[in-house]
Amino acid sequence: MSGHRPKEVNLINYQTLVIPGFEKILRCRDPASGLRAVIAVHDTTLGPAMGGCRMWRYASEDDALADAQRLARGMTFKAALAGLPLGGGKAVIIGDPRRDKSPELFRAFGRAVEHLHGTYVTGEDVGTSVEDMDEVRRETRHVAGVADGSGDPSPMTALGVLHGIRAAVRHRYGADSLDGFTVAVQGLGHVGFHLCRLLHDAGAQLIVSDVAADRMQRAVRAFGAVPVGPEAIAGAEAEVFAPCALGGAINGATRRQLKAGVIAGAANNQLETPGDGMALHRDGVLYAPDYVINAGGLISVAQDILGRGEAYNRVAVTAEVAKIGDRLDAIFKVSARTNRPPEQVADAKARECLAVPAVA
Ligand code: NAD
Repeated sequence: MSGHRPKEVNLINYQTLVIPGFEKILRCRDPASGLRAVIAVHDTTLGPAMGGCRMWRYASEDDALADAQRLARGMTFKAALAGLPLGGGKAVIIGDPRRDKSPELFRAFGRAVEHLHGTYVTGEDVGTSVEDMDEVRRETRHVAGVADGSGDPSPMTALGVLHGIRAAVRHRYGADSLDGFTVAVQGLGHVGFHLCRLLHDAGAQLIVSDVAADRMQRAVRAFGAVPVGPEAIAGAEAEVFAPCALGGAINGATRRQLKAGVIAGAANNQLETPGDGMALHRDGVLYAPDYVINAGGLISVAQDILGRGEAYNRVAVTAEVAKIGDRLDAIFKVSARTNRPPEQVADAKARECLAVPAVA
């Protein structure tokens, strides 16, 4: 079948990679727009594979491929534990989001998404925006988080993280309020800044850090936050450390600096290695598994797909996002009872969900 846009589709060069553990991996190249992308469909047991599109200055195609695989796998677990009838996938575009973006590039990416016929649903992620997804939308309906739908997922991600922090503080410190607690927030971008506002409104003191000085100053002005350098944030005098920048925030070096008894933030892949999670557990530091606490954005954008045709229902989404606190509470309790790190409890629960296909 030739399809209704044969000229553009034929310009994209597709290469399918067979990688064990993944349903499909597609390498896409479009010389006309400069698109170089990888789309990874990890698992569609529970529904179409959903996951944002990251644009990053990857050093090599292999790095991009590895990142797409790691992120897609995480999305499968995130959707499963959030109780969504969705699978996990992810796309990465190789390029500098400050220099290499163009409407043509995102339209070409949209055609690549369309090529998968709805097996994969894209959305925004680090380096891409609602405006970029609006371009993608011109080529495919398999995109969430567009301006006339749920829009920017970051505020809902931040709200979910706030619920998660409350659950963790209750569990670790026996406190029902954040009043008087100090939270160290690493990264003041889309999610981190919203989170600071919610924490400030909840009575928490803030210590903040960002590699961008203007973002730090904005948080200082808005919330009276105390700024520290990027190397000092993990060791800040705070009860909670909230990583909201890039992955790998918890590693051997940062663990040695930690003063916080709770780690609960938005970043994906916070633990550099599984050993870091076991060490936190051994040392009595309560870690909120990243893909559980940061699912608010996915719950929000999922409405564009699952509630197709209906207007975005903010009240319903807000109620769903609040369940993140209860979910973490249950995970922390099992962790304490069985003496297993919370992320191992979460992984086991996600695998259980995947073993039973969702009933339509
Ligand atoms: P963003 O790009 O808007 O913000 C990231 C911020 O971190 C930027 O301000 C950047 O300058 C800062 N940063 C980078 N390195 C740093 C360092 N070493 N120290 C301090 N600051 C540093 O991204 P975002 O959308 O806010 O997402 C933040 C994290 O949360 C990412 O890991 C993302 O994958 C994850 N996440 C985001 C969402 C969402 O809805 N946006 C959902 C789930 C997970």
